[in-house]
Amino acid sequence: MQAVFFDAIDTLRVGTTEIPEQGDDEVLLKVHSAGICGTDLHILKGEYGGYFPIIPGHEFSGEVIEVGKKVTRLVPGDRVAVHPGAGYGVWAPGGFEDYAKVREENAFKIGHLTYDEGALVEPLACAINGIDTVGVNLGDEVLVVGGGPIGLLLMQVAKLAGARSVAVADIAAEKLTKAKELGADEVFDARDNLKEKLLEAHPDGFHLTVDATGNPIAQEQMLDFTQSGGRFLLFGVAAPDARMTVKPFDIFFRELKIVGVHAFGDKFERAVEFAKSRRVNLAEIISHHFPLAQFHEALDLTRGPEPSLKILMHPDGDA
Ligand SMILES: [Zn+2]
Repeated sequence: MQAVFFDAIDTLRVGTTEIPEQGDDEVLLKVHSAGICGTDLHILKGEYGGYFPIIPGHEFSGEVIEVGKKVTRLVPGDRVAVHPGAGYGVWAPGGFEDYAKVREENAFKIGHLTYDEGALVEPLACAINGIDTVGVNLGDEVLVVGGGPIGLLLMQVAKLAGARSVAVADIAAEKLTKAKELGADEVFDARDNLKEKLLEAHPDGFHLTVDATGNPIAQEQMLDFTQSGGRFLLFGVAAPDARMTVKPFDIFFRELKIVGVHAFGDKFERAVEFAKSRRVNLAEIISHHFPLAQFHEALDLTRGPEPSLKILMHPDGDA
């Protein structure tokens, strides 16, 4: 079968390997959809423990093909999303392969959702965890900086959690258009004078600001847009050695809260059920599909200048 391998830092290939054999408490999946995530780029740089070689892909869904002897809840034919808590895609083989074995307890039935939506349950769970952890109060004015897939999920979840308005800022016009379509109340072009534009529209700043860029230059400015007594959710992944400058007096005097969240916590199952309600639009945050053989092109797209949203790999090749 085909699989993507990260062999060492900045070294990847699409190769072949044996179809894995499931253990007694595992199921074998035919992977149908697997999302590329910014975290994959960090894994390729060795920033997530450097477990090389690794088959990456921690956001995936598929069909149960075979079940181990002790499996009781799943049968062949079940369509599932994978909870990657067992290290799938980080230190255990992930979803960028034709077949994957996963523990039964890590496979959640997705019902009527598409496999693509199933692959997006993991990022949705991360967004839910972020908004739950920082807290949205009814009537909050929220700013999300970064209109990529995660920013668009955070925007939708913040609205559902009771925000009065959610603004999205980004440098790509296409992403701002998409944000509007998905319910953003305001959008801001971040290419120039973002601070002036934001403070003109919201002179007191926002109750909650959310970084979904991972860019320390953007992150550093977020407290300037945060109201006194407000909260800043740091969600984007910066480089491990990056630093940002903050004014300690500002945090002290204006009683600001800075909250960090890096994964989905215990929100995966809730995210599956919530996705089934379709109150969050997952399908619209997908911009591209690629067969596994074109993993290089797909990854280049995430790093290149052309704006993209969620890029999904389809191991079975159907685009
Ligand atoms: Zn991810």
